[in-house]
Amino acid sequence: MSLDTLYPSFVDCNVKNINKRVSLELIRFTPGGVSRSELARQLGLTRAAVTTIIGDLIESGLVHETEDGPATGGRRPILLELNPRRGYLVGIDVGATHYGMLVTDFSGRVVNEVEARLDIRMSPDSYLAKVDEALRAMLGGAQLGLDDVLAIGIGVPGPISSEAGTVVAPPIMPGWDKYPVRLQAQELWGRPVSLNNDAELGALGEWAHGAGRGERHLAYIKVGTGVGAGLLLDGKIFRGATGCAGEIGHVTVKDNGPLCTCGNYGCLEAMAGGGAIAKKAREAVLAGKRTQLASIRSVEEISARDVAHAARLGDLVAQQIMAEAGGYLGIAIASLVNVFNPSMIVIGGGVAQIGDLLLDPIRQVVRDRSLRSAAQAVRITAAVLGRRSTSMGAVVQALNIALDQLTAN
Ligand SMILES: [Zn+2]
Repeated sequence: MSLDTLYPSFVDCNVKNINKRVSLELIRFTPGGVSRSELARQLGLTRAAVTTIIGDLIESGLVHETEDGPATGGRRPILLELNPRRGYLVGIDVGATHYGMLVTDFSGRVVNEVEARLDIRMSPDSYLAKVDEALRAMLGGAQLGLDDVLAIGIGVPGPISSEAGTVVAPPIMPGWDKYPVRLQAQELWGRPVSLNNDAELGALGEWAHGAGRGERHLAYIKVGTGVGAGLLLDGKIFRGATGCAGEIGHVTVKDNGPLCTCGNYGCLEAMAGGGAIAKKAREAVLAGKRTQLASIRSVEEISARDVAHAARLGDLVAQQIMAEAGGYLGIAIASLVNVFNPSMIVIGGGVAQIGDLLLDPIRQVVRDRSLRSAAQAVRITAAVLGRRSTSMGAVVQALNIALDQLTAN
Protein backbone atom coordinates (compact mmCIF):
# COMPACT_ATOMS: atom_id res chain seq x y z
CA MET A 1 0.00 0.00 0.00
CA SER A 2 1.42 3.35 -0.83
CA LEU A 3 1.97 5.75 1.99
CA ASP A 4 0.16 8.70 0.46
CA THR A 5 -3.07 6.68 0.63
CA LEU A 6 -2.88 5.99 4.32
CA TYR A 7 -0.98 9.02 5.52
CA PRO A 8 -1.79 12.25 3.73
CA SER A 9 -0.32 14.01 6.77
CA PHE A 10 3.09 12.68 5.77
CA VAL A 11 3.97 15.83 3.88
CA ASP A 12 4.03 17.72 7.18
CA CYS A 13 6.49 15.35 8.85
CA ASN A 14 10.23 15.80 9.09
CA VAL A 15 12.58 13.34 7.42
CA LYS A 16 13.38 11.47 10.62
CA ASN A 17 9.68 10.97 11.29
CA ILE A 18 9.08 9.83 7.74
CA ASN A 19 11.83 7.21 8.06
CA LYS A 20 10.30 6.12 11.36
CA ARG A 21 6.86 5.74 9.83
CA VAL A 22 8.12 3.96 6.73
CA SER A 23 10.07 1.58 8.99
CA LEU A 24 6.89 0.91 10.95
CA GLU A 25 4.99 0.20 7.73
CA LEU A 26 7.66 -2.29 6.60
CA ILE A 27 7.65 -3.92 10.03
CA ARG A 28 3.84 -4.18 9.95
CA PHE A 29 3.27 -5.33 6.41
CA THR A 30 6.30 -7.29 5.14
CA PRO A 31 5.06 -10.88 4.80
CA GLY A 32 7.29 -13.09 6.96
CA GLY A 33 8.75 -10.15 8.91
CA VAL A 34 11.72 -7.87 8.40
CA SER A 35 15.23 -7.72 9.90
CA ARG A 36 17.42 -4.67 10.53
CA SER A 37 19.61 -5.36 7.49
CA GLU A 38 16.55 -5.89 5.26
CA LEU A 39 15.14 -2.60 6.56
CA ALA A 40 18.40 -0.80 5.72
CA ARG A 41 18.31 -2.29 2.23
CA GLN A 42 14.67 -1.33 1.58
CA LEU A 43 15.04 2.20 2.95
CA GLY A 44 18.39 2.80 1.28
CA LEU A 45 19.86 3.81 4.63
CA THR A 46 23.06 2.81 6.44
CA ARG A 47 22.96 0.25 9.26
CA ALA A 48 23.89 3.06 11.65
CA ALA A 49 20.90 5.18 10.59
CA VAL A 50 18.59 2.18 10.96
CA THR A 51 20.06 1.48 14.40
CA THR A 52 19.09 5.00 15.50
CA ILE A 53 15.54 4.69 14.12
CA ILE A 54 14.97 1.25 15.64
CA GLY A 55 16.52 2.41 18.92
CA ASP A 56 13.88 5.17 19.07
CA LEU A 57 11.06 2.80 18.20
CA ILE A 58 12.15 0.26 20.81
CA GLU A 59 12.60 2.96 23.45
CA SER A 60 9.07 4.27 22.84
CA GLY A 61 7.75 0.73 23.24
CA LEU A 62 6.38 0.47 19.70
CA VAL A 63 8.68 -2.24 18.41
CA HIS A 64 10.59 -5.17 19.82
CA GLU A 65 12.90 -7.85 18.49
CA THR A 66 12.15 -11.51 18.12
CA GLU A 67 14.23 -14.53 17.19
CA ASP A 68 11.41 -16.38 15.47
CA GLY A 69 12.54 -15.73 11.91
CA PRO A 70 12.82 -18.63 9.47
CA ALA A 71 16.21 -20.37 9.55
CA THR A 72 18.18 -19.76 6.36
CA GLY A 73 20.92 -22.33 6.65
CA GLY A 74 22.64 -20.81 9.67
CA ARG A 75 21.64 -18.54 12.49
CA ARG A 76 17.99 -17.47 12.59
CA PRO A 77 17.74 -13.76 11.69
CA ILE A 78 16.41 -11.47 14.40
CA LEU A 79 13.18 -9.92 13.18
CA LEU A 80 11.49 -6.69 14.19
CA GLU A 81 7.83 -6.66 15.12
CA LEU A 82 5.28 -4.42 16.77
CA ASN A 83 5.33 -4.75 20.55
CA PRO A 84 2.02 -6.50 21.29
CA ARG A 85 1.81 -4.92 24.74
CA ARG A 86 1.93 -1.29 23.57
CA GLY A 87 -1.88 -0.98 23.62
CA TYR A 88 -5.12 -2.31 22.19
CA LEU A 89 -7.17 -1.57 19.06
CA VAL A 90 -10.85 -2.17 18.34
CA GLY A 91 -12.43 -2.95 14.96
CA ILE A 92 -16.20 -2.82 14.46
CA ASP A 93 -17.99 -4.22 11.41
CA VAL A 94 -21.44 -2.67 11.19
CA GLY A 95 -23.54 -4.97 9.01
CA ALA A 96 -27.15 -4.66 7.89
CA THR A 97 -28.43 -7.49 10.07
CA HIS A 98 -25.41 -8.33 12.27
CA TYR A 99 -22.47 -6.55 13.79
CA GLY A 100 -19.09 -8.04 14.56
CA MET A 101 -16.41 -6.47 16.71
CA LEU A 102 -13.04 -7.49 18.01
CA VAL A 103 -10.23 -6.17 20.15
CA THR A 104 -6.61 -6.91 19.22
CA ASP A 105 -3.28 -6.28 20.86
CA PHE A 106 -0.86 -3.87 19.20
CA SER A 107 0.46 -6.60 16.88
CA GLY A 108 -3.05 -7.40 15.58
CA ARG A 109 -3.64 -10.61 17.55
CA VAL A 110 -7.33 -10.96 18.44
CA VAL A 111 -7.86 -11.10 22.22
CA ASN A 112 -11.66 -11.08 22.28
CA GLU A 113 -14.53 -10.75 19.84
CA VAL A 114 -18.29 -10.78 19.65
CA GLU A 115 -20.91 -11.03 16.92
CA ALA A 116 -24.65 -10.50 17.27
CA ARG A 117 -27.79 -9.82 15.30
CA LEU A 118 -28.82 -6.19 15.10
CA ASP A 119 -31.00 -4.50 12.48
CA ILE A 120 -29.35 -1.42 11.03
CA ARG A 121 -32.73 0.09 10.12
CA MET A 122 -33.21 1.27 13.72
CA SER A 123 -32.12 4.84 14.52
CA PRO A 124 -28.35 5.35 14.54
CA ASP A 125 -28.52 6.59 18.15
CA SER A 126 -30.18 3.39 19.39
CA TYR A 127 -27.86 1.31 17.22
CA LEU A 128 -24.76 2.95 18.70
CA ALA A 129 -26.14 2.50 22.23
CA LYS A 130 -26.39 -1.27 21.61
CA VAL A 131 -22.90 -1.39 20.12
CA ASP A 132 -21.61 0.61 23.10
CA GLU A 133 -23.02 -1.96 25.52
CA ALA A 134 -21.49 -4.83 23.54
CA LEU A 135 -18.12 -3.07 23.24
CA ARG A 136 -17.81 -2.50 26.99
CA ALA A 137 -18.83 -6.12 27.67
CA MET A 138 -16.32 -7.43 25.13
CA LEU A 139 -13.51 -5.37 26.64
CA GLY A 140 -14.55 -6.42 30.15
CA GLY A 141 -14.40 -10.04 29.04
CA ALA A 142 -10.69 -9.54 28.28
CA GLN A 143 -10.09 -7.61 31.54
CA LEU A 144 -9.77 -4.43 29.52
CA GLY A 145 -11.45 -1.04 29.59
CA LEU A 146 -11.75 1.83 27.11
CA ASP A 147 -8.65 3.37 28.69
CA ASP A 148 -6.59 0.47 27.34
CA VAL A 149 -7.83 1.12 23.78
CA LEU A 150 -5.70 3.45 21.62
CA ALA A 151 -8.15 3.87 18.72
CA ILE A 152 -11.27 2.37 17.18
CA GLY A 153 -12.03 1.63 13.52
CA ILE A 154 -15.59 1.31 12.20
CA GLY A 155 -16.79 -0.08 8.86
CA VAL A 156 -20.30 0.63 7.56
CA PRO A 157 -22.15 -0.78 4.54
CA GLY A 158 -22.52 2.41 2.50
CA PRO A 159 -20.63 5.24 0.80
CA ILE A 160 -18.58 7.37 3.17
CA SER A 161 -17.47 10.96 3.35
CA SER A 162 -14.15 10.39 5.07
CA GLU A 163 -13.64 14.12 5.74
CA ALA A 164 -17.02 14.54 7.45
CA GLY A 165 -17.03 11.11 9.10
CA THR A 166 -20.55 10.45 7.84
CA VAL A 167 -22.37 7.95 5.68
CA VAL A 168 -23.75 9.49 2.47
CA ALA A 169 -27.14 8.41 1.09
CA PRO A 170 -26.64 4.73 1.96
CA PRO A 171 -29.35 2.60 0.23
CA ILE A 172 -29.58 -0.07 2.97
CA MET A 173 -29.34 2.30 5.95
CA PRO A 174 -31.49 5.29 4.92
CA GLY A 175 -31.88 6.65 8.48
CA TRP A 176 -28.10 7.14 8.71
CA ASP A 177 -27.77 9.66 5.88
CA LYS A 178 -25.36 12.41 7.07
CA TYR A 179 -25.48 11.12 10.67
CA PRO A 180 -22.14 12.10 12.28
CA VAL A 181 -21.03 8.53 13.05
CA ARG A 182 -17.39 9.32 13.75
CA LEU A 183 -18.12 12.29 15.99
CA GLN A 184 -20.80 10.47 17.98
CA ALA A 185 -18.56 7.43 18.46
CA GLN A 186 -15.66 9.62 19.57
CA GLU A 187 -17.87 11.37 22.11
CA LEU A 188 -19.28 8.08 23.34
CA TRP A 189 -15.92 6.38 23.82
CA GLY A 190 -13.45 9.23 24.23
CA ARG A 191 -11.09 7.55 21.76
CA PRO A 192 -10.07 8.53 18.21
CA VAL A 193 -12.28 6.81 15.63
CA SER A 194 -11.86 6.14 11.92
CA LEU A 195 -14.86 5.54 9.66
CA ASN A 196 -14.67 3.65 6.37
CA ASN A 197 -16.79 1.68 3.96
CA ASP A 198 -17.00 -1.99 5.01
CA ALA A 199 -15.88 -3.49 1.68
CA GLU A 200 -12.95 -1.08 1.50
CA LEU A 201 -11.90 -2.28 4.97
CA GLY A 202 -12.41 -5.88 3.84
CA ALA A 203 -9.87 -5.25 1.06
CA LEU A 204 -7.49 -3.65 3.54
CA GLY A 205 -7.92 -6.46 6.10
CA GLU A 206 -7.33 -9.21 3.54
CA TRP A 207 -4.36 -7.30 2.11
CA ALA A 208 -2.74 -6.79 5.52
CA HIS A 209 -3.56 -10.07 7.25
CA GLY A 210 -5.36 -12.42 4.87
CA ALA A 211 -5.55 -13.80 1.33
CA GLY A 212 -4.17 -10.71 -0.42
CA ARG A 213 -0.80 -10.20 1.28
CA GLY A 214 1.60 -8.55 -1.14
CA GLU A 215 -1.03 -8.08 -3.91
CA ARG A 216 -1.11 -4.69 -5.63
CA HIS A 217 -4.33 -5.12 -7.61
CA LEU A 218 -7.01 -6.62 -5.42
CA ALA A 219 -10.78 -6.47 -5.28
CA TYR A 220 -12.65 -7.62 -2.19
CA ILE A 221 -16.32 -8.38 -2.80
CA LYS A 222 -18.48 -8.37 0.30
CA VAL A 223 -21.59 -10.48 -0.11
CA GLY A 224 -23.94 -9.73 2.74
CA THR A 225 -27.38 -8.16 2.81
CA GLY A 226 -25.72 -5.56 0.61
CA VAL A 227 -23.09 -6.32 -2.00
CA GLY A 228 -20.09 -4.01 -2.26
CA ALA A 229 -16.52 -4.06 -3.53
CA GLY A 230 -13.35 -2.66 -2.00
CA LEU A 231 -10.75 -1.85 -4.65
CA LEU A 232 -7.03 -1.83 -4.08
CA LEU A 233 -5.55 -0.55 -7.33
CA ASP A 234 -1.81 -0.26 -7.87
CA GLY A 235 -1.35 -0.55 -4.12
CA LYS A 236 -3.85 2.16 -3.22
CA ILE A 237 -7.40 2.05 -1.92
CA PHE A 238 -9.52 3.55 -4.70
CA ARG A 239 -12.50 5.57 -3.47
CA GLY A 240 -13.50 7.51 -6.57
CA ALA A 241 -14.64 11.14 -6.74
CA THR A 242 -17.25 10.95 -3.97
CA GLY A 243 -16.46 7.75 -2.09
CA CYS A 244 -18.87 5.67 -4.18
CA ALA A 245 -16.30 3.55 -6.04
CA GLY A 246 -16.89 -0.17 -5.70
CA GLU A 247 -20.69 -0.01 -5.37
CA ILE A 248 -20.83 -3.14 -7.48
CA GLY A 249 -24.11 -4.13 -5.80
CA HIS A 250 -25.87 -1.55 -7.96
CA VAL A 251 -24.55 -2.76 -11.29
CA THR A 252 -27.47 -4.00 -13.42
CA VAL A 253 -27.23 -7.75 -14.03
CA LYS A 254 -30.81 -8.49 -15.13
CA ASP A 255 -33.00 -6.42 -17.40
CA ASN A 256 -36.39 -5.75 -15.80
CA GLY A 257 -35.25 -7.56 -12.65
CA PRO A 258 -36.69 -6.95 -9.17
CA LEU A 259 -36.71 -3.52 -7.52
CA CYS A 260 -33.51 -2.72 -5.61
CA THR A 261 -33.13 -0.64 -2.41
CA CYS A 262 -31.46 2.04 -4.57
CA GLY A 263 -34.60 2.52 -6.69
CA ASN A 264 -33.33 0.81 -9.84
CA TYR A 265 -34.27 -2.65 -11.13
CA GLY A 266 -32.22 -5.80 -11.55
CA CYS A 267 -29.16 -4.67 -9.58
CA LEU A 268 -26.67 -7.34 -8.47
CA GLU A 269 -27.72 -6.75 -4.86
CA ALA A 270 -31.37 -7.41 -5.74
CA MET A 271 -30.38 -10.68 -7.45
CA ALA A 272 -27.57 -12.03 -5.23
CA GLY A 273 -27.59 -10.09 -1.94
CA GLY A 274 -28.63 -11.72 1.32
CA GLY A 275 -32.20 -10.44 0.96
CA ALA A 276 -32.55 -11.93 -2.52
CA ILE A 277 -31.12 -15.28 -1.39
CA ALA A 278 -33.52 -15.43 1.57
CA LYS A 279 -36.47 -14.47 -0.61
CA LYS A 280 -35.78 -17.25 -3.12
CA ALA A 281 -35.54 -19.74 -0.25
CA ARG A 282 -38.91 -18.63 1.13
CA GLU A 283 -40.46 -18.95 -2.32
CA ALA A 284 -39.04 -22.46 -2.68
CA VAL A 285 -40.48 -23.50 0.69
CA LEU A 286 -43.87 -21.97 -0.09
CA ALA A 287 -43.86 -23.76 -3.45
CA GLY A 288 -43.51 -27.02 -1.53
CA LYS A 289 -40.01 -27.95 -2.77
CA ARG A 290 -38.19 -30.71 -0.89
CA THR A 291 -35.68 -28.82 1.25
CA GLN A 292 -34.55 -28.81 4.86
CA LEU A 293 -35.18 -25.05 4.81
CA ALA A 294 -38.85 -25.95 5.31
CA SER A 295 -38.06 -27.08 8.86
CA ILE A 296 -36.41 -23.80 9.91
CA ARG A 297 -38.53 -21.80 12.36
CA SER A 298 -41.17 -19.93 10.39
CA VAL A 299 -40.86 -19.29 6.67
CA GLU A 300 -40.57 -15.51 7.14
CA GLU A 301 -37.49 -15.99 9.33
CA ILE A 302 -35.38 -17.91 6.79
CA SER A 303 -32.14 -15.96 6.31
CA ALA A 304 -29.37 -16.06 3.73
CA ARG A 305 -27.15 -17.67 6.36
CA ASP A 306 -29.70 -20.47 6.78
CA VAL A 307 -29.56 -21.05 3.02
CA ALA A 308 -25.75 -21.09 3.04
CA HIS A 309 -25.79 -23.51 5.99
CA ALA A 310 -28.27 -25.84 4.29
CA ALA A 311 -26.25 -25.71 1.06
CA ARG A 312 -23.15 -26.80 2.93
CA LEU A 313 -25.08 -29.72 4.43
CA GLY A 314 -25.95 -30.90 0.93
CA ASP A 315 -29.46 -29.47 0.48
CA LEU A 316 -29.95 -29.36 -3.29
CA VAL A 317 -32.52 -26.54 -3.33
CA ALA A 318 -30.24 -24.37 -1.19
CA GLN A 319 -27.26 -25.25 -3.39
CA GLN A 320 -29.22 -24.24 -6.49
CA ILE A 321 -30.11 -20.87 -4.93
CA MET A 322 -26.46 -20.23 -4.02
CA ALA A 323 -25.29 -21.24 -7.50
CA GLU A 324 -27.73 -18.78 -9.08
CA ALA A 325 -26.45 -16.03 -6.79
CA GLY A 326 -22.89 -17.00 -7.77
CA GLY A 327 -23.84 -16.72 -11.45
CA TYR A 328 -25.09 -13.16 -11.03
CA LEU A 329 -22.03 -12.25 -8.95
CA GLY A 330 -19.93 -13.69 -11.77
CA ILE A 331 -21.59 -11.40 -14.35
CA ALA A 332 -20.72 -8.27 -12.37
CA ILE A 333 -17.26 -9.53 -11.39
CA ALA A 334 -16.45 -10.38 -15.04
CA SER A 335 -17.06 -6.72 -15.91
CA LEU A 336 -14.91 -5.62 -12.98
CA VAL A 337 -12.15 -7.96 -14.19
CA ASN A 338 -12.37 -6.47 -17.70
CA VAL A 339 -12.27 -2.89 -16.40
CA PHE A 340 -9.65 -3.15 -13.64
CA ASN A 341 -7.62 -6.29 -14.48
CA PRO A 342 -7.04 -7.28 -10.81
CA SER A 343 -4.70 -10.16 -9.89
CA MET A 344 -6.93 -11.31 -7.05
CA ILE A 345 -10.62 -11.24 -6.20
CA VAL A 346 -11.43 -12.07 -2.59
CA ILE A 347 -15.03 -13.03 -1.88
CA GLY A 348 -16.07 -12.27 1.70
CA GLY A 349 -19.10 -11.56 3.85
CA GLY A 350 -21.36 -13.96 5.74
CA VAL A 351 -22.67 -15.86 2.72
CA ALA A 352 -19.21 -16.44 1.20
CA GLN A 353 -18.22 -18.75 4.04
CA ILE A 354 -19.60 -21.72 2.06
CA GLY A 355 -16.61 -21.47 -0.28
CA ASP A 356 -16.65 -23.36 -3.59
CA LEU A 357 -20.43 -23.81 -3.65
CA LEU A 358 -20.54 -20.07 -4.32
CA LEU A 359 -17.07 -19.56 -5.78
CA ASP A 360 -17.20 -22.21 -8.54
CA PRO A 361 -20.17 -20.62 -10.35
CA ILE A 362 -18.47 -17.21 -10.01
CA ARG A 363 -15.21 -18.60 -11.48
CA GLN A 364 -17.12 -20.27 -14.33
CA VAL A 365 -18.96 -17.09 -15.37
CA VAL A 366 -15.82 -14.94 -15.06
CA ARG A 367 -13.97 -17.43 -17.32
CA ASP A 368 -16.82 -17.30 -19.85
CA ARG A 369 -17.40 -13.56 -19.84
CA SER A 370 -14.12 -11.72 -19.32
CA LEU A 371 -11.22 -11.31 -21.71
CA ARG A 372 -8.99 -14.34 -21.65
CA SER A 373 -5.78 -12.61 -20.58
CA ALA A 374 -7.58 -10.80 -17.75
CA ALA A 375 -9.42 -13.98 -16.69
CA GLN A 376 -6.18 -15.97 -16.66
CA ALA A 377 -4.44 -13.35 -14.53
CA VAL A 378 -7.03 -13.30 -11.76
CA ARG A 379 -7.33 -15.68 -8.84
CA ILE A 380 -10.77 -15.85 -7.24
CA THR A 381 -10.61 -16.98 -3.65
CA ALA A 382 -12.56 -16.89 -0.37
CA ALA A 383 -11.58 -14.43 2.34
CA VAL A 384 -8.95 -16.01 4.59
CA LEU A 385 -10.14 -13.90 7.53
CA GLY A 386 -13.71 -15.09 6.99
CA ARG A 387 -16.16 -12.90 8.86
CA ARG A 388 -13.27 -10.90 10.28
CA SER A 389 -12.04 -9.23 7.03
CA THR A 390 -13.80 -5.92 7.66
CA SER A 391 -13.18 -5.73 11.42
CA MET A 392 -9.49 -6.55 10.88
CA GLY A 393 -9.33 -3.82 8.20
CA ALA A 394 -10.87 -1.50 10.79
CA VAL A 395 -8.08 -2.48 13.20
CA VAL A 396 -5.49 -1.63 10.52
CA GLN A 397 -7.04 1.85 10.26
CA ALA A 398 -7.25 2.20 14.06
CA LEU A 399 -3.57 1.33 14.31
CA ASN A 400 -2.77 3.93 11.63
CA ILE A 401 -4.37 6.58 13.86
CA ALA A 402 -2.61 5.28 16.96
CA LEU A 403 0.78 5.30 15.20
CA ASP A 404 0.14 8.82 13.90
CA GLN A 405 -0.38 9.95 17.48
CA LEU A 406 2.42 7.91 19.06
CA THR A 407 5.06 9.06 16.55
CA ALA A 408 3.97 12.71 16.31
CA ASN A 409 6.87 14.43 18.04
ZN1 LIG B 1 -29.43 -1.04 -6.69
